[in-house]
Amino acid sequence: MFIEPRLERQQPGRNNRTGWIEVICGSMFSGKTEELIRRLNRAKIAKQQVEIFKPAVDTRYHESDVVSHNATAIRSTPVYASQEIILLAGNSDVVGIDEAQFFDEGIVEICIALANSGKRVIVAGLDMDFEGKPFGCMPALIAVAEFVTKVHAICAVCGNVASFSFRLVPSKAKVLLGETESYEARCRKCFNEGMARIKKHIS
Ligand SMILES: [Zn+2]
Repeated sequence: MFIEPRLERQQPGRNNRTGWIEVICGSMFSGKTEELIRRLNRAKIAKQQVEIFKPAVDTRYHESDVVSHNATAIRSTPVYASQEIILLAGNSDVVGIDEAQFFDEGIVEICIALANSGKRVIVAGLDMDFEGKPFGCMPALIAVAEFVTKVHAICAVCGNVASFSFRLVPSKAKVLLGETESYEARCRKCFNEGMARIKKHIS
């Protein structure tokens, strides 16, 4: 379980606080958003001002909520470009970002700038796409973060620990919404077996 360092109180008019970046990564159904919400709720208990953002592309469940699969929700602001986050973060102490893999590459510099200005930045996102390849900005975010937590799902085929998102419907698109029907979590072995079957089917 991740125990957060203490975030010092910001003195008015002075930037004397150290910020940092946390990344929560993993496959689909691994509990990334639940872990993000857990950390943000703890920050709220500590009376810190929290702002949460998600890419406007991700409107699967509700327009303005970060909603995880077990329906614990927290209010968030959908944004179209990573630059908007800097403008909207304002005086917040903690900035949460969900579904970070859907953001443009600029999100890395945005997170660094927020942390440099004394904010705690918590980023959740898929670390691999449906082909098992590193997903967009996530490898760079993992590299610049102080703290990285990889959470795991359970393989829907064999019950082992899973870190891959296996796509059940044929599509070449990187972004495919409506994930609960379209994907399942798989372990390395079951993921590779599934991918080999798809390749055989295509050729
Ligand atoms: Zn398996």
